[in-house]
Amino acid sequence: MKIARFSHSDGIRFGIVDEGDLVVLAGDPMFAGFDTTGERVPLADAALLAPVIPRSKVVCVGRNYHEHAAEFGNVAPEEPLLFLKPNTSVIGPGDAILRPAISERTEFEGELVVVIGRIAKNVKAEDALDYVFGYTVGNDFTARDIQRKDGQWTRGKGFDTFCPLGPVIETEFDAASARIETRVNGEVRQQAPLTDMIHSVADIIAYASAAFTLLPGDVIMTGTPAGVGPVVAGDTIEVEVSGIGTLRNPVRDAVPVS
Ligand code: MG
Repeated sequence: MKIARFSHSDGIRFGIVDEGDLVVLAGDPMFAGFDTTGERVPLADAALLAPVIPRSKVVCVGRNYHEHAAEFGNVAPEEPLLFLKPNTSVIGPGDAILRPAISERTEFEGELVVVIGRIAKNVKAEDALDYVFGYTVGNDFTARDIQRKDGQWTRGKGFDTFCPLGPVIETEFDAASARIETRVNGEVRQQAPLTDMIHSVADIIAYASAAFTLLPGDVIMTGTPAGVGPVVAGDTIEVEVSGIGTLRNPVRDAVPVS
């Protein structure tokens, strides 16, 4: 089942994607279940929003694909390398990613994103998937020069608009048979089966929940495959995960602060 969050004349609602329509839900399905209002809204009339606004945090995994670690001269870490993005970096499908004027090199990172549905603390890997509400697609957008200059990643990956999520949450998704592909202006730049991930979704949830309490609505970005590269204003980035959908965002220059 594909869940969208969207704005319509009635305000912000959730809906189940059914052919070309959204079947409108009575509330946020993560908390209120899947009762419907009886209304249908044509997808063409709905502006899709980020399908989830993380309540507390965006947990990210660095260097979770061997070839991506190698392209920067790194060895993939034995344990998941975790960092956080602020939830103020989240934007939705179609929203512009704004390049800060203080960065000269901004890069896309297409990633599978896990949406947590239940409070998770010290979860065992064998139980971890019980805590997943669904999966979406993300772009761990990065100011690479600032990431390197700072020596840690908070600012370089945390600017406003640096966490596009969407277009929908798929609640029945099997990472074992899915692929991820990132395109810039239609040209394929990243392509990998999700089975190339070093640390599995279940292992990442177990590892992260040993450190942080994961709350419903928190998301985990699972790392990017090889092929990352710079983008500039005017480019359009598409990240597609088979079985979920395509997240498309244009890149613009932020208006410099005067
Ligand atoms: Mg990343």
